[in-house]
Amino acid sequence: IQQNEDIRSRIRTIPDFPKPGILFRDITTLLLDPEGLRLTIEKMAAQVDGKVDLVAGVEARGFVFGAALAVRLGTGVLLIRKDGKLPGATIAEDYALEYGTDRIAIHADALVPGARVLLVDDLIATGGTARAAVRLLRKAGAEVVQASFVVDLPDLGGADALRSDGIQVASLVAFE
Ligand code: IMP
Repeated sequence: IQQNEDIRSRIRTIPDFPKPGILFRDITTLLLDPEGLRLTIEKMAAQVDGKVDLVAGVEARGFVFGAALAVRLGTGVLLIRKDGKLPGATIAEDYALEYGTDRIAIHADALVPGARVLLVDDLIATGGTARAAVRLLRKAGAEVVQASFVVDLPDLGGADALRSDGIQVASLVAFE
């Protein structure tokens, strides 16, 4: 029996998006469902291990889960944005894409040094995005205590790579 079938069954799979051959795991159907959203946040909260001072969500779907989880945990939420969106002074980090690079950023004054941060995104695939987020948060002085995802694609190795960076990784649903 699959883990968290109540959540898995509310995630839609769309073939050939964004390119032919890709099976896109679409969590918008999970978000539209009141019970699905509630269960997701409850279960993500239940997996949190230890004290968290701040939740950091990755643009854009990580904002939704991250903000809801922050309310549940009684913390604030830090927005990790695509570069060029934040109005104040920023710290940024580059990461490799299949073709080219991308850059994420946070406000330079967003973090108290030593803050215990929980990183949140909807899905981890290769781990490129999450590992860059960890480098960025560490550069800003945070202690990244855990990373939490709704979906893990374990065959792509991202969760294992994050663990090798010293991060505890939690997810609710895996798609092979
Ligand atoms: P990674 O950097 O390869 O781990 O890819 C993870 C990032 O890409 C996350 O920010 C996800 O939101 C997004 N992503 C990759 N594949 C999917 C998918 O199948 N469904 C939803 N988001 C995805």
